[in-house]
Amino acid sequence: MLSPTDHALKPAQPVVHVKCPLCGQRVPKESYFVHATAERWVLEKIQAAHPEWVEQDGGCRPCYEYYKQL
Ligand SMILES: [Zn+2]
Repeated sequence: MLSPTDHALKPAQPVVHVKCPLCGQRVPKESYFVHATAERWVLEKIQAAHPEWVEQDGGCRPCYEYYKQL
């Protein structure tokens, strides 16, 4: 017996968006990178371009890929 409050009416997991400090875009948290998973030399490139940025801030995946191919 289905009720009007059945789970199908709402997403099981709301997508959490976070603001990327590098490009200012709001991106799904799943597409965010954190320093623990990023390569050191890429982090150093980002920091060179954004002196105020610290690796704990993280960033979005497109930014990471961008600096990786610089
Ligand atoms: Zn970004």
